[in-house]
Amino acid sequence: MRDRLYIDGAFVAPALGGTFEVIDPATEAVIHHAPAASSVDVDRAVAAARRAFDQGPWRQTTGAERAVMLRAIAAGIRARSEELARLEVLDVGKPLAEARLDIDDAAGCFDLYATHAEALDGAREIVPLADPRFTCTVTREPIGVVGAIVPWNFPLPMACWKVAPALAAGCTLILKPSELTPLTALELAAIVDTAGVPAGVFNVLTGFGPEVGAPLADHPDVDKLAFTGSVATGARVMTAAARSIKTVTLELGGKSPFLIFADADLETAVDWVMIGIFWNQGQVCAATSRVLVERPLYDRLLARLVEVAATIPIGPGLEPGVKLGPLVSRAQYDKVRAAIARAVADGGRIAGGGGRPAGRDVGWFLEPTILTDVPLDADAWREEIFGPVVCVRPFDSEEEAIGIANDSRYGLGAAVMSADRERGDRVAARLRAGIVWVDCSQPAFLEAPWGGMKQSGIGRELGRWGLDAFLEVKQTTRFVGGRRQPWYL
Ligand code: NAD
Repeated sequence: MRDRLYIDGAFVAPALGGTFEVIDPATEAVIHHAPAASSVDVDRAVAAARRAFDQGPWRQTTGAERAVMLRAIAAGIRARSEELARLEVLDVGKPLAEARLDIDDAAGCFDLYATHAEALDGAREIVPLADPRFTCTVTREPIGVVGAIVPWNFPLPMACWKVAPALAAGCTLILKPSELTPLTALELAAIVDTAGVPAGVFNVLTGFGPEVGAPLADHPDVDKLAFTGSVATGARVMTAAARSIKTVTLELGGKSPFLIFADADLETAVDWVMIGIFWNQGQVCAATSRVLVERPLYDRLLARLVEVAATIPIGPGLEPGVKLGPLVSRAQYDKVRAAIARAVADGGRIAGGGGRPAGRDVGWFLEPTILTDVPLDADAWREEIFGPVVCVRPFDSEEEAIGIANDSRYGLGAAVMSADRERGDRVAARLRAGIVWVDCSQPAFLEAPWGGMKQSGIGRELGRWGLDAFLEVKQTTRFVGGRRQPWYL
């Protein structure tokens, strides 16, 4: 299956017959040759999805019927969870324990949206009108054919956060995974194929951005684009969407702040700072990569962070006990190393890490890296590095910390920690971010809305908000006034 695209309910070779290498970032070995789709395959897949939406049996399914399929997909993922987790490790490099959580998340997402699909049946809202001669009913219906374009950092969850609500809503879709991590998306196709979903409803095209993502974003028969990735690509996707007035949701990058007040418990703070930036090697859109520490705690927190970070077991994600794997690719490794070098050139200081771990000469491994003294206008402070690199700086007042935290073009995540609950609430309310964590950093729940303010994106995924992103709102208005209403006579 993994050497075929999935179009119109069948595993097929790419029209132009190409492949591309899939590389294990821990060994740099080629582990697979994945099928490289082209715009010809985009046309085929969009035509199939369009047909399935406009003419197939899918539009006649009830939410309850789709829920049965969604639960079958969840069960299919769970039945192969260990295999999928290991595949994800080989593809992205993340530690196995993290990959297992990703697979749980992916399966849970289908269960969650099965419940939402059921709730759609018969759902209608009567809107009271000022004019008694009319009644108005509001219903929701699927938006149509969806192009779902996803990144490499959480390959299966990022796909499922779109696929599950889109199917629950009754849409059809074309999924394009990242060229760096195509494997589990093709396995998802195999699972969906056996779950009773009609042909053409779900399609998977593996390949590169310009060859697959761009023509998909530009395709006139696609009604909606659901994109997760970088700000730069998100802007391109939005530009393409504008050409034919498609709806878009964008989940983009971040540079999330973590404010730690002096009354916080030192060890607890260090625990969450580490989760906030070293999970998935820091390749997390909402990673809290700017840590602001109230000055009385600053020296102690920094020293303890440097000490504990240096003990994180680094190695291939399948090795027992490993908590930090390699970065996803050579390009990402080079980009992160260059960002560290630039931070130093801009006046920053490396307080811990900064280089290749001893004894790890093969694979794209990087030590957990702690930077201090990074100027507020330096790239390392302002731009996403997307690696295990955190900038730490002191602050003197709540007002100053909030000001620095909000001084960013991003607004995805933010975190605050304080023993004073009132202060935690007060600061949380003033942080300009779509996700605010109090006394923790990073936990993400399928039931709660996920997404960013400012340049971190448009719209929300997950929970009921994630379903709304795939539904149109429709009003049906009836005249009940009885007598004729002549206007022109
Ligand atoms: P990317 O923007 O390089 O690629 C994302 C996807 O877009 C890939 O599938 C890629 O092939 C495709 N693509 C590339 N060019 C395209 C084009 N012209 N038209 C259409 N599609 C195109 O991002 P990435 O490096 O894969 O992922 C990392 C980024 O994703 C980071 O910035 C991270 O913050 C962000 N991200 C955000 C969230 C969130 O929820 N907000 C979650 C995960 C990752």
